[in-house]
Amino acid sequence: MSKLSIRDLSLNDHRILMRVDFNVPIEGGGVMDDTRIRETLPTIEYALRHGARLILASHLGRPKGKPNLQMSLKPVAERLRMLLDKELARGENVGFCPDCVGPEAEEMAGKLEKGQSLLLENLRFHAEEEANDAKFSKQLASLADFYVNDAFGAAHRAHASTVGITKFIQKSAAGLLMEKELRYLGKALHHPEKPFIAILGGAKVGDKIGVIQHLMTKVDALIIGGGMAYTFLKAQGQQVGKSLLEEDKVDLARQLLQEAKTRKLKFLLPVDHIVADKVDANAAVQTINSGQPIPANMMALDIGPQTVELFVEEIFRARTIVWNGPMGVFEVAPFAKGTFEVADAVAENAGATSIVGGGDTVAAVNAAGVADKVTHISTGGGASLEFLEGKKLPGVEALTEKR
Ligand code: AMP
Repeated sequence: MSKLSIRDLSLNDHRILMRVDFNVPIEGGGVMDDTRIRETLPTIEYALRHGARLILASHLGRPKGKPNLQMSLKPVAERLRMLLDKELARGENVGFCPDCVGPEAEEMAGKLEKGQSLLLENLRFHAEEEANDAKFSKQLASLADFYVNDAFGAAHRAHASTVGITKFIQKSAAGLLMEKELRYLGKALHHPEKPFIAILGGAKVGDKIGVIQHLMTKVDALIIGGGMAYTFLKAQGQQVGKSLLEEDKVDLARQLLQEAKTRKLKFLLPVDHIVADKVDANAAVQTINSGQPIPANMMALDIGPQTVELFVEEIFRARTIVWNGPMGVFEVAPFAKGTFEVADAVAENAGATSIVGGGDTVAAVNAAGVADKVTHISTGGGASLEFLEGKKLPGVEALTEKR
């Protein structure tokens, strides 16, 4: 990577402002899932072990620029204290500041000792954060000597804590999690071991058009499942019944199919379907075999067994796999099989580098119980999609170049 890494910084005795992604689900004042906090622990521990005075900053939810107790990071500070206590016997040193800028933040940051950390309150309690306001960025920067960005999940946003701050601080570096994300995604896009395949699914074609267009120039095969497949099948002239359909994207889908043909790219779509008249665990479920039309009153909610076979065969051939988007409505039991079978196949192909991104797909891989067999689970849904679209991430671009 051409950007500075936290490993290039002299951390000892210096105040480091680290942007992390602690946007975790909170219920009843407690953290429901601490995956994002645990993912950042290696970077936090690295900084503390090297004698940093560590200031942590994050957003949580969408408080729309105003303080909102429901979205306070206080419970996160408690969980972090617990996690660090287990790891380093240092938990007692995690402080919490009820604001992210201003006199109290300045005082608490100023008093930090070597190896101590402080979590600032939700950045988005100030509208200036998302507005990338220069004065607010400067206030954040004034808390520290150096800046580290470990929030890959927020790197596609140009906010004060991801971009603005870098203009007012000596050096800005990537954290270990940020580096890991960029290393896996970067290698897949730029130097993949071939065959390289992408599996895309989920509900909306519109969200993934850019990804499809860019990946077409990179992959050996593109597998499309989930609700978005039906816009492509419609473009091929098939009857899709009540299945999810984006009418205004049918022409674009046709163009993409034509482009795939021109490129001689394998473009796999579902050939059979699991259908029902409603999304309901108790709905009467039917399999529509290859070559049969989907009845007008039915919607396709999962890929069928022949499609699973077709997709799995391709997955087993691959050496690099990128997957974003479920193959069906996996949240409802009768429509989960296709997604779980694809998850199993991705996990079983031990010879391939597999990268899974997107909240739903990560949840599906966890529910299938194969998360530990996937090479890399990306923590940033939106950021990983923008990366796969070939877009530059502003939060990465803003970091200091290595000289
Ligand atoms: P996305 O946010 O676009 O990745 O979409 C994820 C959602 O797509 C999940 O909640 C799935 O339930 C839904 N989904 C996947 N396949 C289908 C389908 N065939 N019909 C309707 N929804 C689907």
